[in-house]
Order: sequence, then structure tokens, then C-alpha cells
Amino acid sequence: MPSPSFLEMRNRNAINILMAVRESPGMSRAELSKVCDLAKSTVSSIVDQLTGANILTESGPKPSVSGRRAVGLVFNPTCRFSIGMSIDNDRIECALSDLDGELVATRRKRIQRNLDSDALASMAVQELGKLLASKSPAAKGFVGLGIAAPGPITPSLLSNLNGIPLNLEKLAKHLIERLSLNCRPVFDSNTNMAAIAECRRGKGSEGEITVVVRLGTEVRAAVMKDRELLRGCQGLAGNIGHIVAPGKALDCNCGRSGCINAVAGTDSIVAICKALGVEIQQIDDVIAAAKAGETRCRKTLDVAATAIGYGIACAVNIIAPAEVIITGKLVEAGGCMQAPMEAALRGYCSILNGCNLVYSFEDHYSEAVGASLAPLLNSSFLASLVSVSGTT
Ligand SMILES: [Zn+2]
Repeated sequence: MPSPSFLEMRNRNAINILMAVRESPGMSRAELSKVCDLAKSTVSSIVDQLTGANILTESGPKPSVSGRRAVGLVFNPTCRFSIGMSIDNDRIECALSDLDGELVATRRKRIQRNLDSDALASMAVQELGKLLASKSPAAKGFVGLGIAAPGPITPSLLSNLNGIPLNLEKLAKHLIERLSLNCRPVFDSNTNMAAIAECRRGKGSEGEITVVVRLGTEVRAAVMKDRELLRGCQGLAGNIGHIVAPGKALDCNCGRSGCINAVAGTDSIVAICKALGVEIQQIDDVIAAAKAGETRCRKTLDVAATAIGYGIACAVNIIAPAEVIITGKLVEAGGCMQAPMEAALRGYCSILNGCNLVYSFEDHYSEAVGASLAPLLNSSFLASLVSVSGTT
């Protein structure tokens, strides 16, 4: 039986081989031996196991000057998948991505507000189970699990759902046990996960700072530099919804009054419209009514958008990002939101000229998609891949 140190070294070598093939697809065994500085026999033995597990595939003979034609190797991004789950006050969303980050499947379920954590956990298991079952048995292997929930997430992994603490570690443990998953979970806020998805989908630029603003139950922002999240002290970076904005000072759930969230969080908008006597139930109704010209809904969105514009201006003035991506429910309000928001942004911001403002209408599932991408952001997922391949 091989010693633990031998196995550890072999795993490390396997990871290096995978990294090399991902970087330069089509490498031959001989080229890998040079690049990874490993004996040809070691490379061959590891490659055999990785091709056996369908993690690497052979790409056919490569043209060679020496006459002998070597077989090139490519990484198979659909050999396993990464799972993302996003929980928000009124819904659970799941997404499955392949190992190159391509979206494979999504699923959404509306949930009742004020579900207790046990009911939520069993619903999460059910939803994820259905999504995973939709994949063919041959593709059943999952190397990543990302979980997104309303931020900020505390260092002890607590989120907050409709005012009730949600223990994300416990939830992940439940999912892993019930669905027999073999992956280490990663956690982040819905906003941060959405930012990962937005930036990965090509809107964020390399080398620049991007601010992703999510207009949901709360107004929150994620700051990314070189596609890395800047979390700040206790993960509180980007909490722009609690900036006190000029204008009418309504009470905020943080205990103060005048916060942007108090007029621009989706729940606040619904409450304000209801208080004005408009017959609406949820934010979709407000958006539809405003688009149809209902003056009270329009005015409420106008106030919300102006406060949001102020908050974004504060962030832009401090950070000077190359790009601000605006995502989340309120984007669907279109001009009712964009026009007053941009007017406020220009009014409060001196350096907007250099900053590109982008609206993302593809926000559906972006939290869950980002959660599925998060485990793939560094090469550590390759270690799980090597361990499930039976290389050990
Ligand atoms: Zn507040």
C-alpha cells in the first residue's frame, strides 16, 4: 500500500498536470513531463487515471516535426459540475455550472416568507435534489457548492432572512448529508455572488475596479478589483443602503432614519405604496403599475431611484471605478428607475465621465450562478476533482 506522503505527492502532481492542461489545451504527455518537471512514467500513470475518470480527454494526434504523432490532452469541463444556491426572502434559486463556468441548468422556487430554518432546509434539499436529478447519471459528480444568502454574512456564517437569523453552515451540512455531496461549501452574500457572475460574464474588466450594485430587499454593492472581491472589515464593504441620503427621512430597519434602504429597498417601496393606498402586493406589482403610469408608484420609484443615485455617487466619488453594473429587481422598472437615478448620479458625482454605467437585465439567477462559480475561482477545486477521480 502506498504511503500517505507518496499519495500526497501524487495528488499534487495530478493537480499540476490539470493546471498545465487547462492553461495550454492539447499538450502531449511528453510536453507535460517537461512543463511539470516529472518523469514520463509518472505523467503517463497519472494521465491514465485522469482520462479513466473522464477528467482529461485525448484530442487526437498532434502534428509533430519528428514524424511520430503525439496525442494531445484536453480538460473535460463537463466531467463534473459546480452547484450554486441562492436564498432570498421570497425564493430559492439553484444553478449548475460546468467546470469552465458555463451555465448548465437553473431552477427557481418561490418560498413563503417567515419559513423556519428546518422547513427552509428541507425545501432547499428538495429543490437542489430536483436540479441534480435532471443531470444524466454519467455526469453525477459535484466538486463545488456555493451558497448565497442576504448579506452581510457574519464571520460565524449567519445571514438574516426576513429578520430571522439563518445559519448557513448548518444549512450546507444538511444539503451535503442529505444529497451525499462530496464538496466543501463556500459562502457569500447574494450581492457578492451576483458580482462574481456579472464580472465572469464579461462585463467586468481585467485590472480595473468594478462596482456591482444590487437593487433588492436592500441596496447593496460589491466591489471587485481584478475580479477579486474586496470584502472590507467584517465583510461590510459596499453596504451603501445604509448611507443616509438627502430627502425625506423614513425609519430604517437598522434603527436609524433616512437610510437609502428605507425608501429604496424593495420591501420599503411596497410598504410605501401600500401606505399611499395603492392596491399592490409585491414589488412586481409596483413596477408594473409605475410603467402603466400610476402616479403614486411612479413617484415612489422616483424617490427610491434618486436615493440610489446618491448612494452610487458616494461610492463612485470614493473608489472611481471603471464600471458600475446595476442589477437586481428594480432594473426591471426601466426608465421609471433609470432616468431619476442617473439624474441624481450626475448631480452628486463629479467623476462619472470616466465610469461606464451598465444595466444588467440578466440578473435572473445571477446570485445562484455566481454561487456556482465561486468554488471554481481558484484552483483548489482541482484537489477535490483529483480526489473524486480515484487517483488516490
Ligand atoms: Zn439603515
